[in-house]
Amino acid sequence: MDFSHKNIAELRDLLKSGRTSAVELLDFFINKIKQEDADQVDAFLEIFEDAEEQARLADERIKAGDDAPLLGVPVALKDNILYQGHIASAGSKILEDYVASYSATVVRKLQKAGAVIIGRTNMDEFAMGSSTETSAFKVTKNPNDPSRVPGGSSGGSAAAVAAGFVPFALGTDTGGSVRQPASFCGVVGFKPSYGAVSRFGLVAMGSSLDQAGPLTRTVSDTKLVFSILAGKDQNDATTMPLDMLQEHKTHKVKKVGVPRAYMQEGVDAQVLDRFNEAMNTLRQEGFEVVDIDLPSFDYALSAYYIIMPAEVSTNLARFDGLRYGLQIEGESYEESFKKTRAAGFGREVKRRILLGSFVLSSGYMDAYYYKAIAAREKIRRELADLFKTVDIIATPTSPTPAFKLGEKTDPLSMYAADIFTVPVNIAKVPAISVPVQPVSRDGAQLPSAVQFIAPEMHDFPLLDFAETFEKIYADNNKQ
Ligand code: GLN
Repeated sequence: MDFSHKNIAELRDLLKSGRTSAVELLDFFINKIKQEDADQVDAFLEIFEDAEEQARLADERIKAGDDAPLLGVPVALKDNILYQGHIASAGSKILEDYVASYSATVVRKLQKAGAVIIGRTNMDEFAMGSSTETSAFKVTKNPNDPSRVPGGSSGGSAAAVAAGFVPFALGTDTGGSVRQPASFCGVVGFKPSYGAVSRFGLVAMGSSLDQAGPLTRTVSDTKLVFSILAGKDQNDATTMPLDMLQEHKTHKVKKVGVPRAYMQEGVDAQVLDRFNEAMNTLRQEGFEVVDIDLPSFDYALSAYYIIMPAEVSTNLARFDGLRYGLQIEGESYEESFKKTRAAGFGREVKRRILLGSFVLSSGYMDAYYYKAIAAREKIRRELADLFKTVDIIATPTSPTPAFKLGEKTDPLSMYAADIFTVPVNIAKVPAISVPVQPVSRDGAQLPSAVQFIAPEMHDFPLLDFAETFEKIYADNNKQ
């Protein structure tokens, strides 16, 4: 049987009814990865040797009547998610041989639900980038067109799902790193509300922005995985109890707002066409779709590129050549600190550490950092007000389809690719990227996607709405 494009729900049915086993599934996916990943997609950094053992144990649990929701289903982890006893390098030379001494809460929850962790996927170094090209190890290709990027920074996870190497994967999203690669590769990508999912055991980038999220083939699968991952964790003081999310569960979405003015510049004409078609589908189904104004969104990207590097510079201070990973000895602590970091970090990481140290230094802190924090508050308040009048905000996920490998050499043009995803992390709200019909570019069909944004803690109504959209859009495009 070909399992490559089956979703979690379908695989679970096959497993439950005994038509396949966890070991058979795993072997299928590992063989596919062995045949098609190296030099073609390059999504994986490593296939874990103990995956076979995990699958065997899953089969035993199935035989014993265990009905855990992910039992026997393979999953890939982005390389910045700790899994005890396995390397987690965050795409960086500085952590190339770092073996995790404990597992992230999200990993523990996946294991409890019975998932088989197959391996770790390539990513932009420390999750900094939108193309997976800043990885210290290799460049991942977009399975829809190998001359193009898979997006980033969770490009390996998105490409792995799109290529049919795994039914789902985990990524992390600080400014779009789950949603944008999902959009480029043609899969579903979800960034939960800040605090909905534990960050314990993720390699931190921007601690007030980071969230782990799933990449799946369907919105229903995302809903399933999210309901497993979400909830209070005593190891992450910013997490919320599940009740807080469930309180909003019955909220019905009726009205969708489109920030037209924010979508004026730089949006590809075909991407905009696909987006408008999606809005028409919603209208035909009785949703009200209205234009809205979000003037403060204009400041979101600038605020992000101050707050994020500030948090990066503090978070990455721990890589000092003593505590973790790479260690290059010098005459003194200072010298070995300098040598280790000079050799261990790539250009983009160094750029952000410099930028972050600058905006936090005395004299500049008021001029930049505090202004960005004020802008963030303004954006959050404006959004909260707006959500009194609409239930959901819709935008394209990315202004363009996947760009060519090596195309964006100027960092600023790379940063601009995050224009629709970054405000979501700044505002701490949840958002999902759902694929729509592809656009054509240079003879290739490239995925495109819409992003739906909901108020903080409205993750469940957002996912229900996205599920409805996915269904009506598919029905519409069948005819
Ligand atoms: N592309 C954005 C950046 O480079 C977002 C990264 C992320 O979400 N991890 O910062």
